[in-house]
Amino acid sequence: MMKAKDESVAGLTKGVEFLFKKNNVDYIKGTAAFKNEHDIMVNLVDGGETQIRGKNIVVATGSETTPFPGLEIDEKKVVTSTGAIALEEVPKRMVVIGGGIIGLEMASVWSRLGSEVTVVEFIGQIGGPGMDVEIAKQAQKILAKQGIKFKLNTKVTSGDSSGNTVKLEVEAAKGGKNESMEAEVCLVAIGRRPYTEGLGLENIGLEVDERKRLVIDQEYRTKIPHIRVIGDCTFGPMLAHKAEEEAVAVVEYIKTGHGHVNYNAIPSVMYTHPEVAWVGLNEKELKEAGTEYNVGTFPFTANSRAKTNLETDGMVKFLSDKKTDRILGVHIIGANAGEMIAEGTLAIEYGASSEDVARTCHAHPTLAEAFKEAAMATYGKAIHF
Ligand code: NAD
Repeated sequence: MMKAKDESVAGLTKGVEFLFKKNNVDYIKGTAAFKNEHDIMVNLVDGGETQIRGKNIVVATGSETTPFPGLEIDEKKVVTSTGAIALEEVPKRMVVIGGGIIGLEMASVWSRLGSEVTVVEFIGQIGGPGMDVEIAKQAQKILAKQGIKFKLNTKVTSGDSSGNTVKLEVEAAKGGKNESMEAEVCLVAIGRRPYTEGLGLENIGLEVDERKRLVIDQEYRTKIPHIRVIGDCTFGPMLAHKAEEEAVAVVEYIKTGHGHVNYNAIPSVMYTHPEVAWVGLNEKELKEAGTEYNVGTFPFTANSRAKTNLETDGMVKFLSDKKTDRILGVHIIGANAGEMIAEGTLAIEYGASSEDVARTCHAHPTLAEAFKEAAMATYGKAIHF
């Protein structure tokens, strides 16, 4: 499995290197720092230094795991996502601190490989910010059925990784009951923070905000207009495809003066089994905004393809505007959710109503029929449930 993973990573990254060559992009391997507003010093991977000058400069240095105080990351016993995708053997026990996207994805992988996994989550809901409460509850139920244990509303108070195992003390988030936990591997997944260390920001007078993000305007410009920032090290969700859209927009701004990213239509996918995917707003966000909405759901237990594939866990949920029927959010849990969400993203991008989707012919037998029927359910009745 690790060999397959390494081959995939190598293949994909080499593919990008090939595209650089094909498109006359110079790839300098090294660590960069601003010397001044136009000059970058690069510490080369192969030794030595070089200096490059940019008329326009785009910073896309990404993010790093937020550390957990008292637990030193060694990527063997105490791991981040980096170590968690490179473990040399299946740990007998694994404790995951943080039940967000990374925590659940890794819990899903190692639990399926035979590890006894416990997820410790500070708040009362898994899935991190953005996931709809109803879907998060279903996800927890399905993952628990697969053997993953959850400790919600629980905080880790201290950790000790000096021995052969990792020992943790946990207690109820609101104070109270203490408990000790022990595992061969502990994954720290309590969020990520922008990574701008060593970038020489002090040399050009650029500052980061209280969450370490580089501050930009609508056109991704810092206060030095020819230096722009995209991706995890600035505002918005920390997602590769969000950064990719921003990269294209930045180049368009530089070349033509016009660029655009629709932040209402950025899909999120949690690659657990089954997958969870969503786009647009969830019920809590709609309530907070005071928006009146309709809900339509359709379970995969009533879908022909899901039944045939013996993968009936999950549902599709549509949220649409009560007055106009415009789709405001789509939330899916189930096999293939990550592919199916593309249809929801397209619908939101084009300002579709639920009825637009419901009146679109979907092939039988496919999982996507559940998508169509959930759309129907927002204003009337699904045919097959
Ligand atoms: P996250 O924000 O998704 O989840 C962190 C979770 O940890 C939250 O539920 C939070 O309540 C909990 N938490 C925080 N402090 C805690 C504590 N002391 N004890 C227990 N629980 C605590 O963060 P993540 O899962 O680390 O992921 C980081 C970022 O990377 C996210 O923005 C995520 O979307 C992104 N990411 C996305 C994907 C994907 O889209 N498939 C994959 C990897 C990473």
